[in-house]
Amino acid sequence: MSCILYVVIPCYKEEEVLPETARRLKEKMASYLAAGRISTASRVLFVNDGSTDRTWEIIRSLHEEDKLFAGVNLSRNRGHQNALLAGLETAVNEADVMVSMDADLQDDVDAMDEMLSRFEEGYDIVYGVRRRRDTDTAFKRATAQGFYRLMQGLGVDIVYNHADYRLMSKRAVQALCEFTEVNLFLRGIVPQIGFRWTTVEYDRAPRLAGESKYPLRKMLMFAADGITSFSIKPIRLVLLCGAVVCAVSLIMLIWTLVTKLLGHAIAGWSSLMCSIWFLGGLQLLGIGVVGEYVGKVYGEAKRRPRYIIESVLNEKE
Ligand code: UDP
Ligand code: MG
Repeated sequence: MSCILYVVIPCYKEEEVLPETARRLKEKMASYLAAGRISTASRVLFVNDGSTDRTWEIIRSLHEEDKLFAGVNLSRNRGHQNALLAGLETAVNEADVMVSMDADLQDDVDAMDEMLSRFEEGYDIVYGVRRRRDTDTAFKRATAQGFYRLMQGLGVDIVYNHADYRLMSKRAVQALCEFTEVNLFLRGIVPQIGFRWTTVEYDRAPRLAGESKYPLRKMLMFAADGITSFSIKPIRLVLLCGAVVCAVSLIMLIWTLVTKLLGHAIAGWSSLMCSIWFLGGLQLLGIGVVGEYVGKVYGEAKRRPRYIIESVLNEKE
């Protein structure tokens, strides 16, 4: 069976790694071609996510040299998830199967062999799962694992230790395109698609060159997005807190009345202050959480396009 494979790679300021990434992928694609596993219409599709460096120039020259390389240029930086979706939605018209991976070669290119085998066996989605996390700093490892646990605790269906290295069949990506939400958290959305799925383990290498485009600030925002896009448990937690506080204040009320009736009532300044602060804080917290969801509704209601493609490079056969 020879299928059309598109490898989709979002790139943001990746001029340092792109030439090497292209070389590795060209080798890999050539080996698949030689083995008759993929057709000559297969492509490596780079999505330039509004980079301010030479990323798009490099993609253009790669395309000039070899039609294996295709490119999509976004009109501005829209973030990793949107860039990836732009690539997938462009590829789905041509491809039978798509693999998404990072530009920095952290995702082991060789793991694609096994992903393709699973696809050939009839799986629609193959998740790349990291075997170990020893290339991460202790901090990144702890926060990442804490995040996956939290997500599972909140009842969100995500694949443990899977980032965005995955294979998807044409119909799986077509299904993904049906999700019109603006707050994109692909790791949460893809398991919602269903179909036959499996995982493939791989070792994640350190970044080839350049620096991470996910500083702590972006990582925290991404995590918050993931939680509030898929779980309403935080809002229930606030409700529960409110109920508990109400019950406690009822007991306090009875206790105060009894004390008063017994004639020991001394105005308790400290307890008063404490409850004012505590309740005030709780209310603010509640409003904050509600605000978070209202903000989401606001974003979704506008139904803005998630990206705008400026140009596409792809020579059809
Ligand atoms: N990326 C992107 N747009 C952004 C940030 C990142 O397209 O705004 C791409 C980046 O070029 C890379 C992938 O997303 O291919 C993952 O980013 P990175 O390797 O910096 O993240 P990390 O591996 O450190 O989590
Ligand atoms: Mg990386």
